[in-house]
Amino acid sequence: MEFRIDNGFLTGAAFNDSPNSDERPENEEPQLIVIHCISLPPGEFGGLDIHRLFTNQLDFNADPFFSRLRELKVSAHFLIDRLGEVTQFVSCLRRAWHAGSSEWKGRSNCNDYSIGIELEGIDTEAFDPRQYESLRKLCRALAACYPIEGMAGHSHIAQPSGRKKDPGQGFNWAELSDFRNLELPLGLG
Ligand SMILES: [Zn+2]
Repeated sequence: MEFRIDNGFLTGAAFNDSPNSDERPENEEPQLIVIHCISLPPGEFGGLDIHRLFTNQLDFNADPFFSRLRELKVSAHFLIDRLGEVTQFVSCLRRAWHAGSSEWKGRSNCNDYSIGIELEGIDTEAFDPRQYESLRKLCRALAACYPIEGMAGHSHIAQPSGRKKDPGQGFNWAELSDFRNLELPLGLG
């Protein structure tokens, strides 16, 4: 089944509304897809702690790692878990808080004009084939709906350079070779 975006939302996907979002600048549409990875605690998969982080409901005492997340107010538009299930946290029409200080093709503040997609994972390990399948469907749906010009990893856009590693060496950009009409990071397949 193909995915479809309707009025900012992926039809059929679960929506878990994140308060960590705001309006995009006027007349700004999604032009870039930013791919991230996250797991909480790092390297542990399953569970709902990523959902809790994005909705400011994480129990900071549940794991020693979590205490360093206390001041974070973050979100992404989408999370794709290890099974390939997609959860949406922010309407595509709004600005999610995923990229931080960033630059793409000379344009700063990537959050203004991008869609953030988190893959459940860690930057040193391979991702699940089901995640790539959902990612491709999601990117196709986004590109059908918005003037998407390219895709990048968080590591490619983070400022200063080297600030972020995700999605990391475990992410295979060749899995996105269907999207050669878009700007993709160098080294693709
Ligand atoms: Zn990231």
